[in-house]
Amino acid sequence: MSDTNADANTDGDALRTPIVAVLGHVDHGKTTLLDRIRGSAVQEGEAGAITQHIGATAVPLETVSEMAGALVDPSDFDLPGLLFIDTPGHHSFSTLRARGGALADIAVLVVDVNDGFQPQTEEAIDILRRTGTPFVVAANKIDTTPGWNPQEDVPIQQSLEAQSDRAESRLNENLYELVGDLSDAGFSADFYWRVQDFQKNVGVVPLSAMTGEGVPDLLTVLMGLSQRYLKGEMAVDATGPGKGTVLEVKEERGFGATLDVVLYDGVIRIGETIVVGGQNEPIVTEVRALLQPRPNAEIRAEKRFETVEEVAAAAGVKIAAPDLDEAMAGAPVRVVRDRDVDEVVAEVREELAEIEVETAEDGVVVKADTLGSLEAMANALAEAEIPILRAEVGDVAPRDVAVAETANEEKYRVILGFNVDTLSNAERELESSEVRLFSDDVIYQLVEEYEEHVAELERAQQ
Ligand code: GDP
Repeated sequence: MSDTNADANTDGDALRTPIVAVLGHVDHGKTTLLDRIRGSAVQEGEAGAITQHIGATAVPLETVSEMAGALVDPSDFDLPGLLFIDTPGHHSFSTLRARGGALADIAVLVVDVNDGFQPQTEEAIDILRRTGTPFVVAANKIDTTPGWNPQEDVPIQQSLEAQSDRAESRLNENLYELVGDLSDAGFSADFYWRVQDFQKNVGVVPLSAMTGEGVPDLLTVLMGLSQRYLKGEMAVDATGPGKGTVLEVKEERGFGATLDVVLYDGVIRIGETIVVGGQNEPIVTEVRALLQPRPNAEIRAEKRFETVEEVAAAAGVKIAAPDLDEAMAGAPVRVVRDRDVDEVVAEVREELAEIEVETAEDGVVVKADTLGSLEAMANALAEAEIPILRAEVGDVAPRDVAVAETANEEKYRVILGFNVDTLSNAERELESSEVRLFSDDVIYQLVEEYEEHVAELERAQQ
């Protein structure tokens, strides 16, 4: 309600945009869905123009209501809209943390309605459960069901009801199978229009990222879910010192190493001192420039960005500052402002230390690209009952080979590298040792590769 909004603003507090992540199995349509949301939002008029951020897309409430028509009455909402993180997938989801939890406030789990649950769907569900992130399921690709007639600008419920019996029954079969899969995974689920309590039930939104049918319904559900259950968590200090999470550390010509950051609280300004989680120690530096993509950006790097004086949460922004080479994706960023630098450094250090990996006397060596992915690897290995001798962020180095060599059992003389490179001197070490290196950028595949290796060793010993 608008009066709540006024209340929220009187004491310097504001309600920020909920941060939305898109997860799901490969090829189930995550990228297409994000493109579709961006594309349809761009087509809507002035009132609801989306803003492209670094690493994220903001869809304002007006745009959601324009797209959703009768489904959304903007006066029912006081959250400003939705901020979609542009990088889909659970790798980025688990990498992106904030305050020890997930950076995303809410998630969309994309499932190909013809394909149903797949390994990465299960992985995504596990991560959502572990982080307690509320989510809705986008039952995607309904346009590929034989006999389905596309109907534009009609809420998906009506569209479904109006379909021919054959298409409907076929689609319904798939949709009910999906509801069954969700129930096997421990979630009670139903078509979103039948769900009364989204905290108890998972809403399934049938849609097509390709044709756009059902996409307004999805935005409506996300908006409603956020308004009803997340509003309290969206209250931020609009002018307080900025807090964010690093999406990526990127070399940018003319700027050196820069940070792509999602700011989830407060505000960040040019010239301010910030503390960023680094590979060894927290980095203390000063903001040189805050960059946003230029609308209709030209290809030439210098022209791609425009400088802004300040950025307020929730938003994506590129930060240029000295000494960012050792900054880590997934690490916290804090504006110091009126506080003691040491205090903020201690806070950053503490937040990084929260990611603890349980290690054993004997086990494998794990290397991963970020703290979040290291944690995800550790969880996957714990589930598969594979002990860890040492786990660290960074590329595979000679030291890792030396550590892996100290494992007692042969099956543990292994390095599992997740999304990392191998330094060339480490490659030489590997050649002259019996340590095996497995690397992959999909967690379950990495675990599977290792399990196959162990099975092979066991067969050889028999
Ligand atoms: P991602 O790996 O989850 O990001 O999947 P993509 O978005 O790349 O989609 C994989 C393939 O499925 C692409 O060829 C898309 O064009 C196609 N696709 C995605 N959504 C739909 C949909 O709703 N309908 C149809 N027919 N194809 C789709």
